[in-house]
Amino acid sequence: MSNYWNTRTKTLSPYVPGEQPRDRTFIKLNTNENPYPPSPRVLEAIQRVLSDGPAAGSRLRLYPDPECRELREAAAARYGVKPAQVFAGNGSDEVLAFAFGAFFDSNTAPILFPDISYSFYPVYAGLWNIPFRTVPVREDFSIDYKDYLVHAGGVIFPNPNAPTGRTLPQDEILRIAAYQEKQSRVLIVDEAYAAFGAESVVPAIEEHPNLLTVHTLSKSASLAGLRVGFAIGNEELIEGLCRIRDSFNSYTVDRIAQAAAAAALRDTAYYDGITQKVIAARELAASALSKLGFTVLPSGANFLFIRSPTKSGPDLFAALREKGILVRHFNQPRIADFLRLSIGADKEMDTSLAACIEIEDGK
Ligand code: PMP
Repeated sequence: MSNYWNTRTKTLSPYVPGEQPRDRTFIKLNTNENPYPPSPRVLEAIQRVLSDGPAAGSRLRLYPDPECRELREAAAARYGVKPAQVFAGNGSDEVLAFAFGAFFDSNTAPILFPDISYSFYPVYAGLWNIPFRTVPVREDFSIDYKDYLVHAGGVIFPNPNAPTGRTLPQDEILRIAAYQEKQSRVLIVDEAYAAFGAESVVPAIEEHPNLLTVHTLSKSASLAGLRVGFAIGNEELIEGLCRIRDSFNSYTVDRIAQAAAAAALRDTAYYDGITQKVIAARELAASALSKLGFTVLPSGANFLFIRSPTKSGPDLFAALREKGILVRHFNQPRIADFLRLSIGADKEMDTSLAACIEIEDGK
């Protein structure tokens, strides 16, 4: 605590990201990164930014396009929407932060999100001073859409939910959108992991002007290091996001990131291939762990939420770490005995499953 901090800084509870170890080589299954490399088209696009012009790197002299037109056009083509219905940002975390600032208020009813969900939501609410109420997910960790058909300042949840991986069908999400629309409230659906097995609600944005979907290139596009995310929604919502961004920093997505992200969004064939591999590995791991007696929640994401039949969450976390496997544990009510295991490459999954077998056998 410093005397130089203002009240806001003193009272924040910042998000704690998953560990990015530097001291030791781990099988890294703790931050839902994609185990496969990005499309070769992405690297070509980056090369073009660096080599175009009279001198190497000379395009980096210039500010990037503040409107991210090429990137938004690529996203629009990929999702069958208009470029004016796309907003791009520096990772979907930034897009989410802007969305909280643009659509949720300090002096209205609390916004709603599930008690087990992405732990950045309460942080953004704290940053913008937005009241919130968490809604308990069911005993099986699924979301009951009816809980969100109530008076609220707005609603946000991921689909698939994180860290559970559980999905909500499109028609149930749209009932929430319709209900919240009647009271002029925004529903944000964070589709960070949707490519791995959830029904996207992007096709419903024309019908539901209060529905904002948020996407990332960090997971399915293997570009967590690039920091690009985007939102798709009705033009008025997109304009609201632009107003917040342009009151903060007009150039949040740099020149290299814009070109690389556009190339990734255009290469659907490559990404369909690696997504299928991740899904297949997830299903194999889920059935192997179930056979070992683990509780494994059904997952539509690139991770599994699992509970050992014998070990506490912290004990299994420590035992896996000891064997060089890094996963994510959330020290939080209801899920303290669960671990989130990101889906890695086939060999990493084999090693991790062998480690789970050894640990359960007491080795
Ligand atoms: N939403 C959810 C549900 C996530 O798990 C993450 C990853 N931590 C993000 C958004 C943010 O991803 P990024 O900022 O890398 O786009």
